[in-house]
Amino acid sequence: MNSAPPAPAVDHDAYPDSYIKTILADVRTIAMVGASPNWNRPSNFAMKYLQAKGYKVYPVNPGVPGTTILGELVYASLEELPETVDMVDIFRNSEAAGGITDAAIEHGAKVVWLQLGVRNDAAADRAEAQGLRVVMNRCPKIEFSRLFGELSWHGFNSHVISSKRRPVGQAETPANDPGAVTRSRAPTQAGFETRAIHAGAAPDPTTGARSTPIFQTTAYVFDDVDHAASLFNLQTFGNIYGRLSNPTTSVLEERIASLEGGRGTTCTASGHSAQLVALLPLMEPGDKIIASTKLYGGSITQFGKTFKKFDWHCDFVDMDDMAVVREAASAPGVKALYAESLANPGGVITDIEALKEIAAEVGVPLIIDNTMATPYLCQPFKHGADIVIHSTTKFLSGHGNAMGGAIVDSGTFDWFQNDKFPALSKPEPAYHGLTFFETFGDLAYTTYGHSVGLRDLGPTMAPMNAYLTIMGTETLGLRMQRHVENAKKVAEFLDGHPKVSWVSYAGLPASPYHGLARKYLPKGAGSVFTFGVKGGFEAGVKCVQSCELLSHLANIGDTRSLILHPASTTHRQLTDEQRQSAGAGDDVIRLSIGLETVEDIIADLDQALS
Ligand SMILES: *Cc1c(COP(=O)(O)O)cnc(C)c1O
Repeated sequence: MNSAPPAPAVDHDAYPDSYIKTILADVRTIAMVGASPNWNRPSNFAMKYLQAKGYKVYPVNPGVPGTTILGELVYASLEELPETVDMVDIFRNSEAAGGITDAAIEHGAKVVWLQLGVRNDAAADRAEAQGLRVVMNRCPKIEFSRLFGELSWHGFNSHVISSKRRPVGQAETPANDPGAVTRSRAPTQAGFETRAIHAGAAPDPTTGARSTPIFQTTAYVFDDVDHAASLFNLQTFGNIYGRLSNPTTSVLEERIASLEGGRGTTCTASGHSAQLVALLPLMEPGDKIIASTKLYGGSITQFGKTFKKFDWHCDFVDMDDMAVVREAASAPGVKALYAESLANPGGVITDIEALKEIAAEVGVPLIIDNTMATPYLCQPFKHGADIVIHSTTKFLSGHGNAMGGAIVDSGTFDWFQNDKFPALSKPEPAYHGLTFFETFGDLAYTTYGHSVGLRDLGPTMAPMNAYLTIMGTETLGLRMQRHVENAKKVAEFLDGHPKVSWVSYAGLPASPYHGLARKYLPKGAGSVFTFGVKGGFEAGVKCVQSCELLSHLANIGDTRSLILHPASTTHRQLTDEQRQSAGAGDDVIRLSIGLETVEDIIADLDQALS
């Protein structure tokens, strides 16, 4: 019997990274109870990975004693092991974990680890009372790679901020070198601006380069045939081919995940391809999403027309009316709710919490396009969103010079709660029957994004664009502050202008969305808004064409101020009715206020209007 003093209490809902890191550094020998001989089972994945990191792993499986798994003799029980192991890693259900925990205490193990999805608080109490340390509902493979700098290729949020070169490679893993654990600084809940500059981007491990290099390569060498096989089977994390991942892009992915407070990000070639890749794991032919009528015009066309070719459907509803949303969402085959936190171009703000309530009732994720707000102004995950989409083309890159998209996963949606999402909750034929959610837990959706979405659809972000967008994110806070400040002054000016019939800016107290703006975007209602020019279509066209400083183009979120007449450009493909409901009628002019001297922006609009 173990007679150590009780282990210090730890919060099993939120382990400090230092707790897990110390365990992984202390442990040398592991008994894996429930180790499977089948290579596509999560236990087999984890065992192979831990072996590669230098741990001695003993498989324990009463079903196949005397056989071997990954070169190790299988034991029927902990009692039969040839030595006392440091840790017992339990791949059984929560109930069975109780008895095995007791056996682990008896055995003299120092750590009991319960796999992803496995939790037994009573057993944990018993083990802790005997001085053992306990981890529940975590995968050691995922934790190891997260805390020792290996997750880069997936764009996962490691929560590690460090200005030191991070240890990489075999020689510096904790099992081989306990010093490795002290070398990368403790993770922090750093402030927004700090994360905007540092998250995901440690100095380059080989050269020490402080700015993230552009990895302009298509492919990556394998260590050997076995390494290649492990990579292709998703048993180990790493780069294979540029369509799936790139080290520059993964820095951006981790950065965006950190800024949104999410678990992981998949970057794509554009905002539109982000929408495509985001829906791939959710949709089967015949399924549909419920989306706001006030989406960006391009999204209305993509969802309403082009996705029909995949037999994916979309019902557009007024998301200001929750009764309408609830009714639409209860229809069969609905797989997601989709809205923009701040809608382009109407200055409309979505009640994210009200939508979340409905999405939870129906058991589908709430997807929020946060392009116009950016995580600086609005963090949809804090209000219950499950997935966040960005066109990084806009404010995140911020300089009007790089296309891109991002899909951020909160990591909190339970893909097993119903059978609506077989791509994540059932064996995947394209990966020899591995089940994404079972194997990758809260990393499943992001892993799918790379290893199926990007692999099979192919809209990969270019490394150069990732680099430019990384540069953009570094000043996101500063830029958004000034964008909002300038936008408010321009909106106030227009509001008092004799040629202007209305201004739709949620930052103005008269806006019907002002209340929601204060709740969801307390730092400001963005810098894109619309106003109505007296004189309709003709006057709109004239105003746009008379600007000298503001650029007439179809973009938003540039350092430059931009002006557009949606009825004659971006929303041209829509019907009159769709145009009206999207807030793009004949007299509407859209502005994206940039970072120039605000008096110059106002003067240019003043001369254009007169
Ligand atoms: C621009 C935009 C998109 C599409 O992004 P691209 O990068 O142009 O493909 C989607 N949603 C919103 C809100 C946008 O502004």
